[in-house]
Amino acid sequence: MRAATLTAVNQPLEILDISVDKPRANEVLITTAAAGVCHSDMHFQEGKYPCACPTVLGHEGAGVVEAVGSEVTYVRPGDHVITCVSMSCGNCRNCFRGKPHLCAHEGLIRTPEDGPRLTRKGEVVHQLTELSCYAEQMLVHEKAVVKVSPEVPLDRAALLGCAVTTGVGAVQNTAKVGPGDTVAIVGCGGIGLNAIQGARIAGAERVIAVDMRKDKLELAQVFGATDTVDASDVDVVGEILEMTGGGVDHSIEAVGLKQTAEQCFNMLAAGGTATVIGMIPIGVSIELQGVALLAERKIQGSVMGSNRFRIDMPMYANLYLQGRLKLDELVSRTLTLDEVNDGFAALRTGEVARSVITFS
Ligand SMILES: [Zn+2]
Ligand SMILES: [Zn+2]
Repeated sequence: MRAATLTAVNQPLEILDISVDKPRANEVLITTAAAGVCHSDMHFQEGKYPCACPTVLGHEGAGVVEAVGSEVTYVRPGDHVITCVSMSCGNCRNCFRGKPHLCAHEGLIRTPEDGPRLTRKGEVVHQLTELSCYAEQMLVHEKAVVKVSPEVPLDRAALLGCAVTTGVGAVQNTAKVGPGDTVAIVGCGGIGLNAIQGARIAGAERVIAVDMRKDKLELAQVFGATDTVDASDVDVVGEILEMTGGGVDHSIEAVGLKQTAEQCFNMLAAGGTATVIGMIPIGVSIELQGVALLAERKIQGSVMGSNRFRIDMPMYANLYLQGRLKLDELVSRTLTLDEVNDGFAALRTGEVARSVITFS
């Protein structure tokens, strides 16, 4: 099969011919239909997060089940599925505590004795997050898939695999935004736009979108922003404190920078919570004024929207079919696998919400 492979950090992905193993007892082989191009893939490509090479990138995918291992009962060939990095074993401390998205993945990853899922000329090719969606086929553990209604086009369903789950989930599961809350979202890319629609669906009274690009602020209004702040020409924190009369109940950081994480904390009202979704590069610290904690301001991380994806993703699919969750508007452009590096280039310039690779 053909797959977009990172052979060296900071180099363009190469489309290589990769061999994929047969499914073991608990594995599912999927014919990939679509994969979203997410900033996180670029972080690995740029070496901001560690990544062994060669690796097939991609962690936001959907497709059709082609074959299943002998012990798989959840799906069968022909089922439409979305893959998710948040595999959960059901047996570890975090799974039992109701935090399956923090599962340690014990028993869900192939051991050296099992052999690799992907190889090239007999050599191991790594799978990013055990998924590797930038490939014509995905071989994954059954715990990494969720069935989705065939009514949802797969190039839209793929977006539920990371962008939607991460953004909507951060607002609804991690931050627990409720009716009447005032929420500011800093960064209106694929994740930020989903945080905006998550706040709208949760019933927030004011949803303030912050970005440096006017086109993204316009798109933010389509997703449910009630107010916009152009970060290219105002002091963001001062502006938000003024327009809200003292700060927001919730701020959502969807960029992944020290400066924006600090802004998110500094724009909170008393009792407010800042939730950081963005992947701040390893080694970068953020600084807070300790006195701000006296009024019970909080800052927390959110990974993959604190999801329970086998519940959340079918629910998001239904919201889409009902017209309440926007997916079509997220897709800025469709690419072939060969154009994957163009998708990264577009992310760097900030000109797209999401590029989606489709496979014929
Ligand atoms: Zn992602
Ligand atoms: Zn677990």
